[in-house]
Amino acid sequence: MSFESVLGRSEVSRQLVSLSESRRLPHAAAFESEDTALAQAAAKELAAAHLCTNDGERPCGVCRNCRKIYDNIHPDVTVLRAVGKQSIGVGEIREMIADCYIMPNEAAGKVYMIFDKMTPEAQNALLKILEEPPGSVSFIITAEQSSQLLKTVISRTTVFKLSPSAAQADSGEALEAAIEIARAIPQNIELPLIGAASSLTKSREFARQVLEYLAEFFTLALEQKYLGESGYEDYITGMARVLRRDSIVKLYDVANTALDMLSHNCNMAVLSTWLCANIRESKH
Ligand SMILES: [Zn+2]
Repeated sequence: MSFESVLGRSEVSRQLVSLSESRRLPHAAAFESEDTALAQAAAKELAAAHLCTNDGERPCGVCRNCRKIYDNIHPDVTVLRAVGKQSIGVGEIREMIADCYIMPNEAAGKVYMIFDKMTPEAQNALLKILEEPPGSVSFIITAEQSSQLLKTVISRTTVFKLSPSAAQADSGEALEAAIEIARAIPQNIELPLIGAASSLTKSREFARQVLEYLAEFFTLALEQKYLGESGYEDYITGMARVLRRDSIVKLYDVANTALDMLSHNCNMAVLSTWLCANIRESKH
């Protein structure tokens, strides 16, 4: 995983990579985005960068800390949410602050990710710890709008504004990638498929678009097989001609399962490998 895989080749991604390389990651950061899932994925990436033990690029995605963070099981990473109410209250923030002073379990530091709105009182309580944070503790806030945060909190926080286009790969490029995969599927040799599927690791948004196109292609291929009509694109007829009906149905399920894995923040390299293996499997 990397900042680029979540945020694409955006300005924010470049900034974060540079801060991480120089080991100057902010101890209080906020990701502002209408896309809550994107902001949370970016927060997780930053948490991994904080606790990663790799000597080189951080997050490396493979060290013990990175893996546990991606699996949501790291004992030193806490997610704060407003459970059963609108906003996180002052009580939860006070609890978090008390917890900050307890030594980390296994990493060199601790990270607190605040994923829901906070009441003004909660933010005031947070402000105190942002002013004098314990050395190895980091805070990552996500917000749909930075206006949800008090100015005093913002002044103590490095705010990364994720523009919707930050992660949005060019949709034309995603279509091209999906067509390449669709053309590779009926072939007997595996290499073209592996090559085409490797483009999925580019970014989450890009992978999502490619998989949505693929699901659509499989529906069209099935339709073509049933109706036998002409006028479909060559990559649709290519699949319809070579694959059995039940194979195409399986492929459609594979694309949707992959989309589901994506929405659960799976590792992108794993997703690409999984997709190839399951496409191969569906053909038999
Ligand atoms: Zn790591």
